Amino acid sequence: MTIKKKLSLAFGLLFFIIGGIIVLNQIVAKQAKDRYETIHDEIQPAIKVIDKYIQINKTLKDLLEDKIDENKGVNSTLNNKITAILEVEIPNINRTLKGVINEESQLIDVEWVLTNSNKAVKSSEMVIKTLVNKMDYADPVKLKKIKKLYRVEIKKTINLINRRLYHSTEEYKQVNFELNQELNNSFSQISIIILGFGMVGILIGLFFANQTIRSIISPINELKKSAAIVGDGNYSHTTIIEGKDEISELGNSFNIMTDSLRESFEIIQEQKEIQEESNYIKSSKNTLYEMLKGELSTSQIAKRTLEFLLEFYKAPMGSVHSITSDDHLVCEAVFAYDKKKEEMPLIPIGQGVIGAAVLNKKTVIIDDVPNEYSTINTTLGGLKAKCIVVIPVEFANECIAVIELACLNKPDEFSLSFIHEIKESIGISINAAQGLKQLEETYEKLEASSQDLALKNKELEQFVYITSHDLQEPLRTITSYSNILEEDYADVLDEDALKYVSFLQKASDRLRNQIHSLLELSRIGGMKEKEKVNFNTIFENLQTELDFLIKEKKGSLITPSFVVESIMGTSTEIQLLFQNLIVNGFKYNNNETPQVEISYMNNGTHLSFCVTDNGTGIKEKYYEKIFQIFQRLDKGEGSGIGLAHCKKIVESHNGKIWVDSEFGKGTSFFVDLKV
Ligand code: ADP
Repeated sequence: MTIKKKLSLAFGLLFFIIGGIIVLNQIVAKQAKDRYETIHDEIQPAIKVIDKYIQINKTLKDLLEDKIDENKGVNSTLNNKITAILEVEIPNINRTLKGVINEESQLIDVEWVLTNSNKAVKSSEMVIKTLVNKMDYADPVKLKKIKKLYRVEIKKTINLINRRLYHSTEEYKQVNFELNQELNNSFSQISIIILGFGMVGILIGLFFANQTIRSIISPINELKKSAAIVGDGNYSHTTIIEGKDEISELGNSFNIMTDSLRESFEIIQEQKEIQEESNYIKSSKNTLYEMLKGELSTSQIAKRTLEFLLEFYKAPMGSVHSITSDDHLVCEAVFAYDKKKEEMPLIPIGQGVIGAAVLNKKTVIIDDVPNEYSTINTTLGGLKAKCIVVIPVEFANECIAVIELACLNKPDEFSLSFIHEIKESIGISINAAQGLKQLEETYEKLEASSQDLALKNKELEQFVYITSHDLQEPLRTITSYSNILEEDYADVLDEDALKYVSFLQKASDRLRNQIHSLLELSRIGGMKEKEKVNFNTIFENLQTELDFLIKEKKGSLITPSFVVESIMGTSTEIQLLFQNLIVNGFKYNNNETPQVEISYMNNGTHLSFCVTDNGTGIKEKYYEKIFQIFQRLDKGEGSGIGLAHCKKIVESHNGKIWVDSEFGKGTSFFVDLKV
């Protein structure tokens, strides 16, 4: 039964009992009220009036006694008193008696009393009228007759009435007593009802309250205990609360809550374990990464990896082999084995467990270790390995090494899965070490050939210089003799011969220019002292030096008004660089008003110059070619060395030069110079 129903029942019962008490009280109280009204309205007035009647009769009897006495009878006051009783008091008390006594009353016969009273009154009036003065008393007959009347009739009647009245009054008193008794009984009944039923009600109430409280408190205590148990971490605890009330529902909800708490706890626990495992893996990985950091050789990496894995797997013995270019396994590191790594034999790929692991690229776990497998020697004897783990290490899907661990126990799943986490890193490190080794070898070779190249270059430059220098001498001879021919034999030589001499002179001039340029080129990038290059001075010089050319071409040269920045370099070379570009801009230009403009911007790391002209332009396919020595795109008087010269100057200043052009419209040369 639910608590609500229990409480409703208890209160219902309580109200029923209180209602019963009220109804019973009403009944008893009504009876008591009736009795009280009877006593108060009938009995007590009757007793009172009867008592008074008896009293009046007695007084009348006494007064009449005096009246018939010849010594006391002649007294007007006595007469008045008797008259008052007879005329006022007795009629009054008769009226009252009639009014007070119920006609149906069995206790007194009112009619009888009134009749006899009238009789007594009339006789008494006779006495008063007969005995008026002394003479009447002096008459013995009269007196005797009156005395007889009094004694035989009046006194007798009054006594009779009084006896009846007295009897009635006694009966009334008896009724009064009984009614009072009943009234008291009613009050007792009311008290008993209130007390008795009240007590029963209270007891029933207490019983139900006790039952209800117990039905609430004991499951709550049970719940309290369960909450403490669950609070202590025992999430598998189940609370049992019998019944089908709200508390048992609360118990069910508590169990559901405990279940979900347990589930949550288990999830948290799982996550914690996963987190711990992942932290452990992370920290182990970090340890390994730290160990493999830096420029290490393959055998150093193999040694450190082996140390790490032996510690991680608590394995006492192990080795690491790498794969040679001729498909053999060579030992890079070995631990606790009775041979040094240098003494270990080369194993062909595919042979033995580790050779097979290379081909299969799969981790091999051998539980059933053969007897002939090496014993791990200690100072006290030899230990037998229980499990052998062979791990192939790959890089870019190629097996590059094999690790072998001899364990005293079979590693658990978690430890085995860990190897897959780090295999790749070990592979990368070994590959990097092998790559580094190759790189070092290549670098050594490169260094040797670059030294060789530098030597050859130097020789070449010297050769160019010497050749150019040496060529000048025969050239000077050719020029001198052609001049002599032109000047001294002009008369002797015919027109054709003179034309050939002039060709000879022009060719000599061109050759001189080329030799001069070659000499300049061979000098660039030499051991010249670097200085702060002032571009403003360079552009001013160029404006002055090229003024004749510009005017001759009827063109214009626009240079930056002010260059704040400068670079470290050779000013003469930089000037020559811009001079070549400007001269080309005018040279390869058919425009009526040829124009060359130099602009620049600072890129932070470089000063970027742009030399733009409105000349013939260059086809894209020649963008590379024009920077090569002796490469020319037309048959003009150029030497084909200018742009090669420019390129060499820019590169010796750690810069870059390139071209962009729109054929037929103009060309832009871009020069980046390192700030
Ligand atoms: P040169 O001018 O002595 O022939 P360069 O090395 O200076 O030698 O130039 C190589 C070739 O590039 C030139 O023959 C020319 O055809 C082309 N060239 C160079 N500069 C320009 C330019 N500004 N406009 C068009 N063509 C150019």
